Amino acid sequence: MGRILDGQPVAAAIQHEVRERASSLAARGVVPGLAIVRVGEDPASVSYVRQKDRAATGLGLRSHVFVLPAEVEEAELLSLISRLNGDPGVHGVLVQLPLPPHLSPERVLAAVDPRKDADGLHPENLGRLVRGDPNLLPCTPRAVQEILVRSGYPPSGKHVVIVGRGLLVGRPLSILLSQRGPGGDATVTLCHSATPNLGRFTREGDIVVVAVGKPGTLTAEVVREGAVVVDVGVNRVPTPKGYRLVGDADFAALQDKVEAITPVPGGVGPVTVAVLLLNTVLACEAQTTGR
Ligand code: NAP
Repeated sequence: MGRILDGQPVAAAIQHEVRERASSLAARGVVPGLAIVRVGEDPASVSYVRQKDRAATGLGLRSHVFVLPAEVEEAELLSLISRLNGDPGVHGVLVQLPLPPHLSPERVLAAVDPRKDADGLHPENLGRLVRGDPNLLPCTPRAVQEILVRSGYPPSGKHVVIVGRGLLVGRPLSILLSQRGPGGDATVTLCHSATPNLGRFTREGDIVVVAVGKPGTLTAEVVREGAVVVDVGVNRVPTPKGYRLVGDADFAALQDKVEAITPVPGGVGPVTVAVLLLNTVLACEAQTTGR
């Protein structure tokens, strides 16, 4: 029976660092401020934003949620972002994704001041990651890296196979894990919907990360014994009473075969939130001390 890689202790270790840094800032009279922008009433986004807001205030940060209607014009959203960019009490700005289809996530993410880019998805910060000179890191890729390193499975020297090349997770993760130095130095294969015979690649992985958004994408047949699996997917599956959350991996069958696997929920999700708050305090330090 494989080990379950619970995200809670990893999140708790990162939260501890956030709390320490926030109290050092408080001693200088600075309270790190996070602005969270939500557009529309997508139930998953409502729930994620609530979690992030609560987690921020629980660690001594100041958090403010801005809610705009789903039909808001892009100019109005960009104007709010511009106002938050100029607010000295706001050190991190997060726009919850996905956005309604009439809004361009590229334009919206690029409008956030890169120094306040709590999500680490601004083109400048992604560019710095590619150059090997990272600043604020994208939250979910860093969460995956933290889980691996802090659970005793550092990616260095391993073959990591990533399924999914999305901008939020798979693509930046492939760069993060293959960069030079601690937490990196992996050999990475990046698979996607145009990969023929996915199993041919996933069977080669010492570590397999799946970030697709479709339940059952990663089955036990396509992962080798003793591999480590990180399941990033979050899918709502209807039940008679409402819905339940499942990942992209066939958890029950894989658990019998692998060395370790993250659960959904309770794996990558809580660590992603902790990294968001870490980014916010790091951004605050940089803005208030010039570091
Ligand atoms: P995305 O941008 O839609 O990317 C999905 C990727 O999966 C695409 O690259 C797509 O390939 C690939 N794909 C689709 N079907 C495939 C198949 N049958 N075989 C192989 N690859 C396939 O999604 P995302 O934003 O990266 O998110 C992925 C999942 O992670 C979602 O379930 C999301 O909810 C979850 N997520 C979780 C967290 C967390 O904190 N836990 C954070 C962010 C996202 P193409 O590029 O060829 O289309």
